Amino acid sequence: MSVARILAAKGRHVVTTQPHRSLQDVAGLLTDHGIGAVVVTGPDAEVLGIISERDIVRAVAEGPAALQEPVSRHMTPKVVTVREGDSIDAIMDTMTAGRFRHAPVIEDGRIAGIVSIGDVVKHRVAAIETEKEALREYISNA
Ligand code: AMP
Repeated sequence: MSVARILAAKGRHVVTTQPHRSLQDVAGLLTDHGIGAVVVTGPDAEVLGIISERDIVRAVAEGPAALQEPVSRHMTPKVVTVREGDSIDAIMDTMTAGRFRHAPVIEDGRIAGIVSIGDVVKHRVAAIETEKEALREYISNA
């Protein structure tokens, strides 16, 4: 099972922000969309970074004034991205090893979607259930 399968189920919309926006703006976006991270883009929709709820918590731990600081100061600029053809098992390993829960999907240099660890686990559990049913049927017909 691949990333393309996740995108087919959840859609390709990606919430983005820009480097000059404030952390408070990002907190509003995360709340409004019920998500955990947004991709930071430049004028040509190129990926400049990613900022997650974890970055906001870390910044606010220094004091609430951080909420007025720009995204560029707190985002992660080196973003690990995935491809539609990547397997779900592979990106699960990537996320676990890198200790992050979000990965933008890039195709032909453009953002084609985003997957979260929640999406990955949901599809992995569904696949295990399907395998279990197939095995049960196989055994009962043996
Ligand atoms: P998360 O677990 O996604 O909330 O993110 C944990 C940390 O990893 C934060 O500092 C994020 O900015 C960073 N991060 C999240 N996703 C990625 C990614 N795909 N590539 C690199 N860093 C990331």
